[in-house]
Order: sequence, then C-alpha cells, then structure tokens
Amino acid sequence: MALVVMGISLITLLASRDAAVEHAHETSRNVTAVLVSNIARTIETSDNSLRSLIAVLNKPAIHTIDPGLRHDLLFDRTAAEYVTGMGVTDDRGRLIDGCCSSSHRWDFGDRDYFIVHRESANVGLYVSSVYRARSRPGAQSIAMTRRIDRPDGSFGGVAIVAVDVEYFRQLLAKLDVGPNGITAIVRTDGTLVARNPPLDEAKLGNLGRSPTFPRMVNQDSGFYAAPSIADGVLRLYTFQRVPGTPLIAVVAPAQGDVLAGWRRLSWIVGVSASSVSLAFCTVVWLLAFALRDHAKTQVLLTGLTQTDSLTGLKNRRALDEFLENEWGRLKRNDGCLSVLFVDADNFKQYNDRHGHAQGDIALKHLAACITRHARRRGDLAARYGGEEFVVVLPDTDENGAVRIAEAIRVEVERGRPTAPHGALPRFTVSIGCATGRRSHPSSLNELTNSADLALYAAKRSGRNAVVRADDIVAPG
Ligand code: GH3
Ligand code: MG
Ligand code: MG
Repeated sequence: MALVVMGISLITLLASRDAAVEHAHETSRNVTAVLVSNIARTIETSDNSLRSLIAVLNKPAIHTIDPGLRHDLLFDRTAAEYVTGMGVTDDRGRLIDGCCSSSHRWDFGDRDYFIVHRESANVGLYVSSVYRARSRPGAQSIAMTRRIDRPDGSFGGVAIVAVDVEYFRQLLAKLDVGPNGITAIVRTDGTLVARNPPLDEAKLGNLGRSPTFPRMVNQDSGFYAAPSIADGVLRLYTFQRVPGTPLIAVVAPAQGDVLAGWRRLSWIVGVSASSVSLAFCTVVWLLAFALRDHAKTQVLLTGLTQTDSLTGLKNRRALDEFLENEWGRLKRNDGCLSVLFVDADNFKQYNDRHGHAQGDIALKHLAACITRHARRRGDLAARYGGEEFVVVLPDTDENGAVRIAEAIRVEVERGRPTAPHGALPRFTVSIGCATGRRSHPSSLNELTNSADLALYAAKRSGRNAVVRADDIVAPG
C-alpha cells in the first residue's frame, strides 16, 4: 500500500512536471513567434527601402542630374527609427552617397556584405553579421544589403540599410522569460546579434562550439533543454528561424524558473506521501508484531491442549483426532493402518513398591522408548491414559506393526529408567497390535477394540508379550 501511494505520487508528479515543461514550451513558442514576426517586419521594411533605392538608381537619368538633387531623390524619405544609415557604395566599397551619418567617404570594401555581393550576383537580400559602426563610435549595427548591377550585369556596388543592434536589444528586453531566462537573436554562423540580458560576446564566444547549436541551424524551429555554454544554467530553448535570413530567434527560460512551482508542489506531495506511507508501515508493523505474538500464543495453547504433560507425547484428544483423520484417509485410499496398544505390566505393584514418583519416571522412560521406535513421518505416539499408550502407524502392515511392537517391548524389558539418585528397577510392557485396511474392519472402533483385545490376550499369555489381533482365537 505504501509503495502504491508512493508510486502514484511519483507518477502524478512526473506527469505534472511534463505538463509544466510543455506549458513553458508553448509559451516560449508564442513569444518566439512574436519576436520572429517583429524581426521579419523590420527586415521587410528595410528590404523595401533597398529595392526602391536600387530602382531609382537604375533610372539612367539619375546619373545626369545634379548630385544634390540626386541625393534628395535617393534618400529623402522618412526612414524607420531603427535605421541608423542608408547608403550606396561603388564597386570598390567606397560610400558614394548616403544619409543619416556624416558625409565622410567611408570605405566598406572589407565588410562581409560587400565581399558576398561582389563575389556573387544572385545573393538577393543579404543580412550582415554585427559590426562596429564606423560613423557612430561604440555602436553596433547590422546591415541589410542588396547588390547594385550595372546595365551590363557587372558589379556596380552595394545598397545598404544599417540597423542599430540596440533596436534588437530593446525588442528582446520587452519579452519576459523569468528571472534566469534569456532571449537572443543569433546568426547561423554562431555569432550573436543581441541577447537579453546582455552578455559580453568575448565571454560567450562563438555559439557554434555549443554541441546543441547545429540543431538550431539545421531546423527551422525546435525545442530542447541544455545547459548554457555561457553560465551553465539549464534552460529550455525554443528557437525559430526568421524566414529568408540567417537570423534565429531564441527564447530560453531557465528550467529552474519553469519548474519552481512544480518543485514546491513536489515537496508538499513528497513529504505528505512519505508521511502517510511511513505511518501506514508503522501501524502495519506494530499490528504484525501483535498478530505474531497472538499466533505464537495460539500455537503454544494448541500444543498444550494436545500434549500430555508428564511424557510430552500427544494426549488422548490429539490421538482421537489423529485416528479419525487416518481412518478417513484409509477409507479413501488403498493401504493399511496399524495400531499398537501398549500397557505397562503390573504397574500398580511397581508404584506400590517404588513410589508414585518413581512410577512417573518409569512412564517417561516408556514414552521415550516408544518415541524412538515410532519416528517415521506420519507415526503418532500418544498417552491413552494412566500407564497405557497407543502408537498409530499409518501405511504399516501387520508384520511391520509387530516388528515395531517387539522392538519397543525388548527395549523396555532391557532398559532401566534413570532417576536422579540412580537407575530404577526394570519393568515390562504388553502390546496388542491390530491392522486395518480399506475393506476391513468396518469401523475405527472395531480396529481399536481389536488392538485392545490383543493387549488383553498378551496380558493373559503372561505379560511382556506382543500379540496380533489376527492371532487371537475367538472364545468358544
Ligand atoms: P496389568 O499388568 O494387568 O496392567 O496390571 P497393572 O497393575 O499395570 O494394572 P492396573 O490397571 O491394575 O493398574 C494401573 C496402575 O497404573 C494404577 C496406577 O497406580 C498406575 N498409574 C496410572 N497412571 C499413573 C501415573 O500417571 N503415574 C504413576 N506413577 N502411576 C500411574
Ligand atoms: Mg498395566
Ligand atoms: Mg492398564
């Protein structure tokens, strides 16, 4: 019962733990979806700006008009608040026109986006890795870029929309993922775009070395639990790729936060279930002890009610019960059942001569002799009363019965009872034997009477003798 209580509690707790994790996963999935759609919208808006910038640049007339007017045509539109710069480079990476920053002619020939577009004509929209903005010392940006093709298809430069990384950080900071949770935007190359709470990238290193990172790269979305490579905290990561970009949105509440409520419940359930089980076991244990004592007493009492106090043999009550059972068994099965009636000879005289106490010792001696010869499993020796004993020998035929009776008689005749002050005088016994079978006699009473008659015959024959019931010549 205690194990069942503990087992049910354990199963319930494990199920509620799974439910807590599943709930956290679902919440994270929703938060991630919101984050992804925000990022996607930002990128889409930036890409629209890039496309219209390139569309204007592709009009041949734009190159013949006044540079001031051209600048206004290209960049005079209200940029979204997260856009920190827009620009166009020539085929060597030098900024030829731009806005939202100083008019310095920066060289972006070393930027990843420039190299990517120069090397390949069909990259489309390229989202760069994080870089330190040259025009805004200390700030970090990522660039959404598109290649500018000359009319002959050759590389003519890059159109750039720069987005402040701080914008992504603020996006992440709005999401609540518990006291020890993190939200992050990472690139598929393992570099970090933004993280909340912020973390020094030098400390974090490239995420690519995390054994679980390949999962994020290889799947569009997913869920797993793993310890963080930054701080070792076990978190439940839900991630989703921003479609068409190398950006992955990650929402990861700490497992400890997710399971805090469940832990409290586990303590309450665990302590309650253990207490109930312990109390139950204690009560059962005490009860078992009481029952065992009771059973012991019962066995002792049963033994006492079946035992003769002087000799330690079975008493008359036990003998009657045993005989009834054996008789029933004999009538059900084939076989035989022998009974010996043993009576001490002239025992009245023995008592008179040596005293009743010595007579008792002699009776114990006789009981011991009988027991030594009726020791087969199933045999029973009992004190019938006074100086008379009965031996029941199941599955023993006439010859076997006489052999055992003779052995008892001889041992009694030759032995001497031992009293504390020395050996007592010898005495003898007379024994009557009778054997019953399934077919004969018809009753147990008849069988015992036959043995009794045989005993009387032995007495009549002069005592110290064994007589078989079959050998008695019927009077008359
Ligand atoms: P027989 O050979 O014909 O059997 O003669 P007997 O004297 O043995 O027979 P009887 O039935 O006349 O006497 C039985 C005697 O057994 C009487 C009694 O003094 C003695 N006796 C019976 N029970 C006990 C007992 O528990 N202890 C002692 N010491 N003697 C007992
Ligand atoms: Mg006698
Ligand atoms: Mg007698």
